[in-house]
Amino acid sequence: TTTTRTRDAQIFDLIAKEQHRQESGIELIASENFVSPQVMEAAGSVLTNKYAEGLPGKRYYGGCEVVDQVEQIAIDRAKELFGATWANVQPHSGAQANTAVFLATLKPGDTILGFDLSHGGHLTHGSPVNISGKYFRPTFYGVEQETGVINYDVVEETAQREKPKMLICGASAYSRDWDYARLRAIADSVGALMLADVSHPAGLIAKGLLNDPLEHAHIVTTTTHKTLRGTRGGMIMMRNDFENPFGLKTPKGDLRMMSSLLDSGVFPGTQGGPLEHIIAAKAVAFGEALTDDFYDYAVQVRANALAMAKAFTEKGYRIISGGTDNHLMLIDLRTKGGAATSLTGKLAENTLIKADITINKNMVPFDDKSPMVTSGMRVGTAAMTTRGLKEADMELIVDYIDEVLMNHDNDVKISAVREKINAWMKAFPLYA
Ligand code: PLP
Repeated sequence: TTTTRTRDAQIFDLIAKEQHRQESGIELIASENFVSPQVMEAAGSVLTNKYAEGLPGKRYYGGCEVVDQVEQIAIDRAKELFGATWANVQPHSGAQANTAVFLATLKPGDTILGFDLSHGGHLTHGSPVNISGKYFRPTFYGVEQETGVINYDVVEETAQREKPKMLICGASAYSRDWDYARLRAIADSVGALMLADVSHPAGLIAKGLLNDPLEHAHIVTTTTHKTLRGTRGGMIMMRNDFENPFGLKTPKGDLRMMSSLLDSGVFPGTQGGPLEHIIAAKAVAFGEALTDDFYDYAVQVRANALAMAKAFTEKGYRIISGGTDNHLMLIDLRTKGGAATSLTGKLAENTLIKADITINKNMVPFDDKSPMVTSGMRVGTAAMTTRGLKEADMELIVDYIDEVLMNHDNDVKISAVREKINAWMKAFPLYA
């Protein structure tokens, strides 16, 4: 007979299979990374049993003395890492963090101005299928077709015309750094709040390798699982702007500080009990990110991205904006070396996976194909850098990608690449 103590072979076999998949292939999805064993240990800990609605020291449940300390350490480390003066580490994900900010600071129907999803933006910045596009009036800026880069004069003109209550920057597929100072000036010129969603480059920002969003944006949100290399999750931070510019009040009519508005945007606004096991894992990851090792890691992530961009360019692939400042790049597959190809993002994704190379199809700016097909692929170096790969390895990866894409109908050649990759990856054990 089975009991509740019988090991769930069905699920644990699948977990083992997934671990094998992660260990034997090349992971280039720009939003993924590999957490350390201690981050995973914290995420799988007894803290999952604890209810702790509220904030450290102000809970709606008893028995929170220990998780209070855990959450406070996570908050303190997040502040130290980003030079924030306030942080909320409870959002379950990046989307939750953004939704909490919107609930706390906007009213239904308010105009928001974000980076176009089809140019590399994120769906939580005003897409019609997301709450941000359903409950608010979304407007967008994008990149210029010629350069693939954001023209801040156009952002300013759009803000003047649309008069948003919130100006949002940040992206899922933009390889250039952001001019946060200019964006704040634009936000101020129309009386908008500025939100910087740094989910993707957060780890590089934490180590000072990219412009500092906290100095300029009123509010900064991030995921914790991309370049930051923590468990899946989100957080919200601020450094300078604690005034409540729109005079938003509590249901009782009290004027509140921005930090208190944001705290209640998370709980009780959009979440119930915080995931203290995940908050513990965030704390461990932030502790790792505070080390000098993590600085070396972040430098290598960017060096690897530059090496990869150079290798793709030398093979005739067109990178949107011509290169990268961060950990990722977006490649237009419609031409190679100036010649038209039949490659689509969908074909590239489905073919590369046969060689155990994981990428994702992605719209390119001004794409002529649907989001399910796309003309582009997005690649990033955060995960493979964690694995220990260096610049020369990026050139080899690009050789393999090119070999597979140029032979996408030749299963023999693709299998040969897969075998080489599986053998290669044995030298880089992930969770020994
Ligand atoms: N914001 C940006 C810019 C992102 O790239 C992502 C994730 O891809 C998110 C928000 C959403 O994060 P999550 O998937 O954790 O909800």
